[in-house]
Amino acid sequence: MTTLHHEILIIGAGTAGITVAARLKHRDPKADVALIDPAEWHYYQPAWTLVGAGTYNYENTRRPMRSVIPKGVTWYQDAVAAFDPDHNRLTTRDGREISYDYLVVCPGIKIDPTLVEGLAEVLDKDDVISVYTDPKFAWEKIRSFKGGTALFTQPTTPIKCGGAPQKIMYLADDYWRKAGVRDQSTIVFATPGTVIFGVPEFRATLEKVLDRKDIMVKFYHELVRVDGANKVAWYHIKAAAVEDPAKQVRNPKPIEEEWVGNDMVGIHYDLMHLAPPQTAPDFVRNSKLVCEEGPQKGWVCVDEHTLQHKQYPNVFSLGDVAGLPTAKTGAAVRKQAPVVVENLMRLRSGRTDLWAGYNGYSSCPLVTGYGKMVLAEFAYGNKRASDPLISKFVDTTKENYSMWLLKKYGLPFMYWNLMLKGRA
Ligand SMILES: Cc1cc2nc3c(=O)[nH]c(=O)nc-3n(C[C@H](O)[C@H](O)[C@H](O)COP(=O)(O)OP(=O)(O)OC[C@H]3O[C@@H](n4cnc5c(N)ncnc54)[C@H](O)[C@@H]3O)c2cc1C
Repeated sequence: MTTLHHEILIIGAGTAGITVAARLKHRDPKADVALIDPAEWHYYQPAWTLVGAGTYNYENTRRPMRSVIPKGVTWYQDAVAAFDPDHNRLTTRDGREISYDYLVVCPGIKIDPTLVEGLAEVLDKDDVISVYTDPKFAWEKIRSFKGGTALFTQPTTPIKCGGAPQKIMYLADDYWRKAGVRDQSTIVFATPGTVIFGVPEFRATLEKVLDRKDIMVKFYHELVRVDGANKVAWYHIKAAAVEDPAKQVRNPKPIEEEWVGNDMVGIHYDLMHLAPPQTAPDFVRNSKLVCEEGPQKGWVCVDEHTLQHKQYPNVFSLGDVAGLPTAKTGAAVRKQAPVVVENLMRLRSGRTDLWAGYNGYSSCPLVTGYGKMVLAEFAYGNKRASDPLISKFVDTTKENYSMWLLKKYGLPFMYWNLMLKGRA
C-alpha cells in the first residue's frame, strides 16, 4: 500500500475541522493541509433547536461539504478507521494509509441510543423525539401535541450543547400556550443534574423562567430505561437525593409515576423529548489517543489550555471529542481553534513554548421562548465570561429580544461567512 502524506492532517470537517483548516491557510497559504471526512453535508447544528420549534428551515442548516472546504485544502471523502500515533499515521475505511507531521483530531461526538435500554427501539418514532437526531420529526410531534404529560430529559453522559434539552422545552411550552393546549398539559424536566444550570448568574434567571412557565423539574434523575410499549421512562435516583425527596423536585405536580423501592421511579409520558446518550466515536475510543482514566476517560487526552495531546506532542484536539472540562459547543470551538492554529505554527517553526490560551470558554444561547434568549457565556469552573462589548448594551443574564435576533439571524450568518472562513 502506498502511504500518502500531509504536513497537517485534520480528522473531521465539522465546525472545528473547517475552522482550523481555514485559519491555517490564512496563516500560511503554502501549508500542506488535508481534511478527512466522509460526510456529503456540513451542518449548522445550533439551529436544529429552532427547527424543532418550527421557526427555522432545516434545509438552511446544511450546505454541501465541498462548498465549505477552504481553498487549497485537500479533502478525502473517507472515514478514519484507526490511528497509529506511534508511527504518525492512520488508516481509513476505504483502505488508505496516510501519514502526517501534525494531526488535529476533531470528528465530533457519537450519538449512542443503545446506552439506555429500550431507547434505540423508540427514538424518532411515535412519541419519543429529539432535536439531536431528527429535528423535523420533533417539530411534527410538538406541533400536533394535544396535551398530557410532556417529559423532557437528558442522559448521564456528556452531551453537546447541554442547554438544548431545556431550550426546546421552553419553546414547546410557548408554542402550546399559543396553540391552547398548555392547560391540558404537564411539562416535566427530568435531569441527572442537581441544578438547572451550572453558572449562578444564569441559573437565577432560568429558575424564574421555570416558575413562570410552571414546569416541574426533577433533579438527581438518571435515565436508565425506556419502556416504549407502556410509555414509561425509568430513572434511578442518585443516592444524595434518596433520603431527601425535597431535593428532587421544583414545582411539584400530580403526575403518573410508579416507584420501585425509594430509588427507582417510572414516569409516564405522552410525549418525550430527550438528548440521547453520547460518547466519543468508536475509532477514537479504541485508540491510544483517549484518556484512560479520570473524568475525561474515553475522550481525547489534551492539555486544558494548549489543546496539545498529553502523550503525543504533534497531536491536537478540539471540539466535542476533546477531553475538556467545559461545555461541548460550537462557541467553544470558536475560541479553541485560534489556540490550536497558533500552537501548530509555533511547533512547525521549531518553537516549543506553546500558547496556553484556552480558558474553557463556552457559551449557551438559552432560548426561553419565541423572541426571548439568555446568552450564557462562561469559562472553566463555571465562571461567567460574558462578552464585554455585548454586555455594554445588554444584560445577558436576562431574557432579551436582541439576543434572540442574534441566535436566529446573527450567529448563523457569522458561522457561514466568518467562522468557517477562519475570520471569527
Ligand atoms: C441540537 C443541537 C443544538 C446545538 N446548539 C448549539 C448552540 O446553540 N451553540 C453552540 O455553540 N453549539 C451548539 N451545538 C453544538 C455544536 O453543534 C457542536 O458543539 C459543534 O458542531 C462541534 O464541532 P465539532 O467539529 O467537534 O463536531 P461536528 O461539527 O459535529 O463535526 C464532526 C465531523 O466529523 C466527521 N466524522 C465523524 N466520524 C468521522 C471519521 N471516522 N472520520 C472522519 N471524519 C469523521 C463528521 O462527519 C462531522 O462532519 C448544538 C448541537 C446540537 C446537536
